[in-house]
Amino acid sequence: MKLYIAKASTGANGSYKQVVVSNAVDKIEQPRWVCIKMLEIVYVTYVTTLIHILVSNPYAMKKYLFILFAFLVALNSFGQVKRPLPVIDMHLHAIGADDQGPPPVKVGAPFAYFGYAEPKVNYGETFIGALKTGAWNTVSISSPLTDDELKQQTLAVLKERNIYGVLSGDMTKVRQWKATLPDRIINAVYWDFGILKHDKLDVDSLTKLFKSGEFKVFGEVAIQYEGISAADPAMEPYFKMAEDLDIPVGIHLGTGPPGVSLLTKSRARLGSALILEDVLVKHPKLRIYAMHAGWPMIDDMIAMLYAYPQLYVDLGVINYILPQKEFDFYLQRLVNAGFGKRVMYGSDQMVWPGAIKIGIDRIEGASYLTKGQKRDILFNNATRFLELNAKQIAAMQ
Ligand SMILES: [Zn+2]
Repeated sequence: MKLYIAKASTGANGSYKQVVVSNAVDKIEQPRWVCIKMLEIVYVTYVTTLIHILVSNPYAMKKYLFILFAFLVALNSFGQVKRPLPVIDMHLHAIGADDQGPPPVKVGAPFAYFGYAEPKVNYGETFIGALKTGAWNTVSISSPLTDDELKQQTLAVLKERNIYGVLSGDMTKVRQWKATLPDRIINAVYWDFGILKHDKLDVDSLTKLFKSGEFKVFGEVAIQYEGISAADPAMEPYFKMAEDLDIPVGIHLGTGPPGVSLLTKSRARLGSALILEDVLVKHPKLRIYAMHAGWPMIDDMIAMLYAYPQLYVDLGVINYILPQKEFDFYLQRLVNAGFGKRVMYGSDQMVWPGAIKIGIDRIEGASYLTKGQKRDILFNNATRFLELNAKQIAAMQ
């Protein structure tokens, strides 16, 4: 058995390192999380053993090799217990540090309340002011100042918490992030009609991207911000393409920044899950998930989950911006209604890498969920939705 440090990343409490354990027989390398102190003990023992082998007789050599072997076996099993369980983030973005206004901006994680505005005052200024001061927040998370810091901090969280992310956003950035951390990134296409016009991302060019295998998910489809319904006939060729290619679709549904209809062309009524009904009837083989779980229209969401067993949801953004009681109410309602097998974790971290851990911790800490339900939401449901095979799932453990 060969043992060496592959990465210098440390675990959640700073006392673990990721190493790669390689089996000399089948040459399969496996990442393991091990206690730093345990590593030190093994190395000291290894060196000590070598010295003894040099100065001792064959009997002593056998004895010390046995001790070394026992330490390595103990180390291997110790690492297996301590590595964080895998998480799939169905809603990760690679965007610029200034995407939500000049950095740093402070998001509420959670917000204490969603503000108020004088009708005669420009709401955009009011909202940016709240993001700059954190005045509406219970807890504030500040955004990094540069694109590079945003990338590095986000990817560091993925490594630390053993997260695999479905990444969409600026296509150049998605490719850069993927190149930096290939094993943990699943490329996705962020899309709306503005991007279609600007980047010529039409059905033909999207088909090429998906057929190449470089991009695997069509989403976030963010047309609600343009005031366009998922049921608009203009969307029809795109859903047909995704169904024909068996490419999963993630569609923005529901929330947005507080005051979203004053900041964009979004309309609240377009956030109802009911607008997906004609799409699902027309495309029964389509794999599709409602991002943000259609918050806040829980009844519409549940009606659709009940009527269409192929529909999934993610918990993007609502798992950190919503006041605790409202998030708990919403998630508990989805699970109590019988849909715990179709709720997936998603961060929608945007420019706030710190939001990822807060969302996961809220799910991990939910007293109303069983251990199994938490694992379903954080990992198992996404592996089923993405149709990952046993080998891919095993590599994530
Ligand atoms: Zn969204």
